[in-house]
Amino acid sequence: MPLDSKIPAGPLADKWDRHKFELKLVNPANKRKFNIIVVGTGLAGGSAAASLAELGYNVKNFCIQDTPRRAHSIAAQGGINASKNYQNDGDSTWRLFYDTVKGGDFRAREANVYRLAQVSGNIIDQCVAQGVPFAREYGGTLANRSFGGAQVSRTFYARGQTGQQLLLGAYSALSRQIAAGKVTMYPRREMLDLVVAGNRARGIVVRNLISGQIEKHAADAVVLCTGGYGNVFFLSTNAMASNVTAAYRAHKRGAFFANPCYTQIHPTCIPVHGTYQSKLTLMSESLRNDGRVWVPKKAGDTRPPSQIPESERSYYLEEKYPSFGNLVPRDVASRNAKEQCDAGRGVGDTGLAVYLDFADAIRRDGRDVIAKKYGNLFEMYEKIVADDPYETPMMIYPAVHYTMGGLWVDYNLMSNLDGLFVLGEANFSDHGANRLGASALMQGLADGYFVLPYTIGGYLAQVTPGEIDTDNAAFDQTAATAKKRIEHLLAVDGKRTVDDFHRQLGLIMWDYCGMARNDAGLEKAIGLIKELRGEFWENVTVPGSAGDFNQSLERAGRVADFLEFAELMVKDALHRKESCGGHFNEGHQTEENEAKRDDENFCYVAAWEHTGIDSEPALHKESLEFENVKLTQRSYK
Ligand SMILES: Cc1cc2nc3c(=O)[nH]c(=O)nc-3n(C[C@H](O)[C@H](O)[C@H](O)COP(=O)(O)OP(=O)(O)OC[C@H]3O[C@@H](n4cnc5c(N)ncnc54)[C@H](O)[C@@H]3O)c2cc1C
Repeated sequence: MPLDSKIPAGPLADKWDRHKFELKLVNPANKRKFNIIVVGTGLAGGSAAASLAELGYNVKNFCIQDTPRRAHSIAAQGGINASKNYQNDGDSTWRLFYDTVKGGDFRAREANVYRLAQVSGNIIDQCVAQGVPFAREYGGTLANRSFGGAQVSRTFYARGQTGQQLLLGAYSALSRQIAAGKVTMYPRREMLDLVVAGNRARGIVVRNLISGQIEKHAADAVVLCTGGYGNVFFLSTNAMASNVTAAYRAHKRGAFFANPCYTQIHPTCIPVHGTYQSKLTLMSESLRNDGRVWVPKKAGDTRPPSQIPESERSYYLEEKYPSFGNLVPRDVASRNAKEQCDAGRGVGDTGLAVYLDFADAIRRDGRDVIAKKYGNLFEMYEKIVADDPYETPMMIYPAVHYTMGGLWVDYNLMSNLDGLFVLGEANFSDHGANRLGASALMQGLADGYFVLPYTIGGYLAQVTPGEIDTDNAAFDQTAATAKKRIEHLLAVDGKRTVDDFHRQLGLIMWDYCGMARNDAGLEKAIGLIKELRGEFWENVTVPGSAGDFNQSLERAGRVADFLEFAELMVKDALHRKESCGGHFNEGHQTEENEAKRDDENFCYVAAWEHTGIDSEPALHKESLEFENVKLTQRSYK
């Protein structure tokens, strides 16, 4: 099937304005005839649901949590990018666009990224108008700090709680629409399947997580904003409920999954402590504004950091990348940390950590200034590690954090299935092979506040409202499939817990499809995943029943999907015989161990079509055309 990205013609800077004008409009009086389902209430879903309702559409909004405010977006710490150039340090729409395309290792669509940079400033205005308490300078103007992969300060922040504050902004807009009757909120619902009829998305099937009841919901369009799938690795910085189920079930119904192997491993996380752990904690990238990364020069040096003199320390990022120093992009910083630890220079009990040291910054700016910027992050670190980062360097190590892959969407954010739109981390769209820090919040809010409200109108203007309701046979068939799967999970009645399977899957993914990959390891992983999946369906134990609140059952469904999806990730990684961004294949590296792309053969988006669990997925390629940016070997030196 040919993939039409629907990128508008014309000069890059004019494409979005022109497209907005050319899109068909839905007359205000007709908007109330359309029903739209939005799944997810994070920054993407919350902003989309509120904006669509404000426009006059009827919205049904679903989430797993007991309230929209508990979506994973609330965990975002460091900030949100926008090219306002408040610092007068040379920022511009063009620079944000360029940094993002380069940061993604030239594997993103130029037109999407340019639009993202164009609307970035509007997001900040919108959030300020909602009352989001961004950090301010003494004189009252909005403050900025720097994030990786940029030499300007363009990151707006609210201490280490940016996601929480932005989500409260979106939630207040959403609450207004709930009160106005334009949004009906369905918390504690898990989407189990997409209803497709006549190659169009027509609705969803959900499980009421309190009563266990299976419900059917019809609409004129379905918008998935269900977040990322980093939890396929078991250990990640994502919220426990983050999952791939909604996106993967849509994939099984025909939506293409793009670039699933592009995973972001964040360099600044608290290292793994032991096998009892089920979660990893991010220490925000913002810390690398002031913290200096180092390891002892001598391998196997076990002295405490205070006893290692300056001359025996290696500030390896500053030495290797003098232009960007500690603020190189995440993929580069993570790979370098791994390289140091692999060479025996890692620190801490496991040797799988490097130091992040604030001593110089505290000497320079004083403890109070550092506490103002990062106080809550320092407290969090101390609570978890029982070490005071004001006195002794933090220890950090890379951890799974974000997934650049997602459902394939065109310029309008519509998947290859008519009527199915995908926003935020759940789509693949703007970050290529590596996302720059503080760009996920920007993308989620751009999608929800400023892109979808236009593009969905272009689609709805061409369809008849309410054509199909839940009486249609497709709803019964889809609901029956969901019920059968639940019954199957409960009937296995085996011996191993869901978490036990999940942990083993995570280890396979980390060992063979993690920070570094190679062909032999990836091939081995495919076999191991298949084997584990086979055992899961014979030996998993899921206590409780279907007609009740049952978190084991919820998790079992999600892990069952991860066990299928993981294989697709590995196959995608195996087919991409190059290294780029978060996909580092050891067989494809430069002499200096940097990712070596193959632009001649792999300058495309890999969009996979599901053809059955036991058959090979079909690959569809969307060629990436770079008309405005020259493809180069990425350098941060
Ligand atoms: C610790 C941490 C810190 C971060 N800090 C930053 C930062 O400083 N800056 C930045 O730009 N990015 C940051 N990120 C990334 C960013 O937070 C996420 O990419 C972004 O918030 C994702 O938003 P979203 O709306 O796409 O999805 P989410 O916020 O993950 O929301 C998903 C929603 O979908 C719902 N859902 C999921 N599956 C289903 C289902 N099957 N049925 C029904 N509902 C479902 C959930 O209930 C939830 O409401 C951070 C990420 C982490 C993990």
